[in-house]
Amino acid sequence: MARALGAQAPLSVQIGSDASLRKHGFEGHNNLSFHRRSWNSTSLELKKRNVQLKYQNEVVCMSVQQASKKKVAVQPLELENAKEPPLNLYKPKEPYTATIVSVERLVGPKAPGETCHIVIDHGGNVPYWEGQSYGIIPPGENPKKPGSPQNVRLYSIASTRYGDSFDGKTASLCVRRAVYYDPETGKEDPSKSGVCSNFLCDAKPGDKIQITGPSGKIMLLPEDNPNATHIMIATGTGVAPFRGYLRRLFMESVPNYHFGGLAWLFLGVANTDSLLYDDEFTNYLREHPDNFRYDKALSREHKSKKGGKMYVQDKIEEYSDEIFKLLDGGAHIYFCGLKGMMPGIQDTLKRVAEERGESWDAKLSQLKKNKQWHVEVY
Ligand code: FAD
Repeated sequence: MARALGAQAPLSVQIGSDASLRKHGFEGHNNLSFHRRSWNSTSLELKKRNVQLKYQNEVVCMSVQQASKKKVAVQPLELENAKEPPLNLYKPKEPYTATIVSVERLVGPKAPGETCHIVIDHGGNVPYWEGQSYGIIPPGENPKKPGSPQNVRLYSIASTRYGDSFDGKTASLCVRRAVYYDPETGKEDPSKSGVCSNFLCDAKPGDKIQITGPSGKIMLLPEDNPNATHIMIATGTGVAPFRGYLRRLFMESVPNYHFGGLAWLFLGVANTDSLLYDDEFTNYLREHPDNFRYDKALSREHKSKKGGKMYVQDKIEEYSDEIFKLLDGGAHIYFCGLKGMMPGIQDTLKRVAEERGESWDAKLSQLKKNKQWHVEVY
């Protein structure tokens, strides 16, 4: 099957060839790798072989100009057909039993805490759109309601609807282990570790997992204008939905959606070792320099202009003129991550607006009214 991506001087590339796999963000690391922590070679080879097997007969045709921006073929394309996003296909009383494909640590040794990339096989039975969340019911009894299952915990989906294997059968999550430090001793108290995040990060391939959803409409990627600007502000695991967006915008060959706008990601984490999916994002910078910007705020390594720790709001302030102009031009702005990120960001935006002689309250209500303002914090 041939997919035509461009009209001039067609060039055929076998999807699944080493060259094409390298181009699809698998470059230089033998395949998927996150922040210098590659998938181990066994799972790596297995994944690569799976992708090769799935796409060995598919050929992409593209123009010479586009050859440097080869995209991955995805299936099933019926996932493009629905007019509305899937919602709550599985509820807490009747969850779907999915299977863990892989759990990989995403961060380096100097990162405070642990964050994992978890791939879940839903067999194509729990479809979702980019920006939605899954609910996970961890095993065991609800301590507050003996005899009842644990409460559902929500996790933003970090893959596109086609999943990391591009076949519509998996979903990926980006999960940070919740740990508890005794405020008096400063020591970790494992008896108070977060139930679901630790269950997910400790899971092994083949383990069964109860999922609900998908849920959420706030963070869906508006696709009515393929030339729109999307400004994404993330702290930590808040990057999850944006990884999904960016794979859809830059990595996958999606019929009828050819992105020509600007995607600008601001990512705030503690230090270089805590960066998430940095290789993937850096690759987009290389391949789509006109359509992608990527700014990092490493609070424990960078200093803000005022000499303090560098947080995302300091990066926003640095680029506030451009950001305000883009918002005035209709850009979408998204925030995702810990709840604590919003007050600092809102204060910064308010201050910048006032310096520009604008009322932030009026501007914010206009952004909300225009559906340009998208917030999911937890
Ligand atoms: P829980 O068991 O629910 O415990 C919660 C916290 O309480 C933990 O920090 C735990 O250490 C602490 N604790 C436990 N016992 C005690 C005690 N006795 N005294 C004091 N403290 C205690 N998280 C992600 O990692 N990635 C995501 O992409 C993500 N997306 C989300 C999207 C949405 C829309 C929402 C609402 C939340 C999202 N979350 C995400 C957060 C996630 O849902 C969970 O809240 C988080 O993983 C913690 O759940 P847990 O079961 O591990 O912790």
